[in-house]
Amino acid sequence: MRHPERVFTDYELSPLVGVLARKFINRWDMYPQQMANGRWLTVHEPLHVGLLQTHLRGDVTLGVYLLDEQSRGRFLVFDADSTESWQQLRKMAQELATENVTTYLENSRRGGHLWLFFDQPQPGQAVRWFGRGVLARQGIPPKQIELYPKQDELDDGPGSLIRLPFGVHRKSGQRYGFMTPEGNPLAPTLRQQVQVLGRAETVPIRFFELVCDKGREVEAERRKRRIARPLAATKSVTVGDLPSERIKTAVSVHDFVSQYVELSPSGMGLCPFHDDTHPSFSVNAEENYWYCFTCGIGGSVIDFWMQWQDCDFVTAVSELAHMLYD
Ligand SMILES: [Zn+2]
Repeated sequence: MRHPERVFTDYELSPLVGVLARKFINRWDMYPQQMANGRWLTVHEPLHVGLLQTHLRGDVTLGVYLLDEQSRGRFLVFDADSTESWQQLRKMAQELATENVTTYLENSRRGGHLWLFFDQPQPGQAVRWFGRGVLARQGIPPKQIELYPKQDELDDGPGSLIRLPFGVHRKSGQRYGFMTPEGNPLAPTLRQQVQVLGRAETVPIRFFELVCDKGREVEAERRKRRIARPLAATKSVTVGDLPSERIKTAVSVHDFVSQYVELSPSGMGLCPFHDDTHPSFSVNAEENYWYCFTCGIGGSVIDFWMQWQDCDFVTAVSELAHMLYD
């Protein structure tokens, strides 16, 4: 990586460090640091302002955890990693602005992030309900845009993390700034952008509660649909020539699913449909079905595709038929 450009002079640094500390840092007992290959390493040492300074200088690149030790978050981040989903994020920012909700768009290596700040720390679950609600109101399927935090509540580790803004991406050597939904820089210089973020507007509490309710409904609806779905389709000889039956016979669930889920030799893996930390997803290769012990869902390759794409039966069958026979 080439030497990062000095965009912050030393005398400018301390107020800016204060902004990072105040707005972005959820916990000080440990921190994520980006390595040269772009991956993240958890450093089990206290974070201090000196490190935030070196982050702004570009000498190290830090990440931030989305939740504090009590599983509460002070912001939500939507992550778009394709051009298409990045356009959706920009549109989302524009539409939220018409409802007097100010959001902050940040460019990244591919796509970008949309930040929403809260007045008070909110429980992880409420933050995620709110995020789901925002996506649902825009008609965006949950798998298209990633939602951070990824945990309702912390288990053993510190949970999901995101790159701390204004640093240098270790892999691309770039700094990424904030922009308006129209595509202009949020402020002319990165230093001014940090200052704008320091005064970042928060989501109005009334709006937060309303959209939380919406997200909770969407989530409950999704759960219901999962449970209502039969675990394994009943076998029948008379429907053997239905496209769906042909697909089920033709496709090995094990081979198909392993393209999306890393499976152990015994067919176990981390479930892609919930925040799984201990493998609860399993594939029975002989009987040709999958099952998640935590979600309580499973079935054929079609059931898997319905969950993966969040689509209905007819769509799943037609997409699979295309993949198989085209
Ligand atoms: Zn699961």
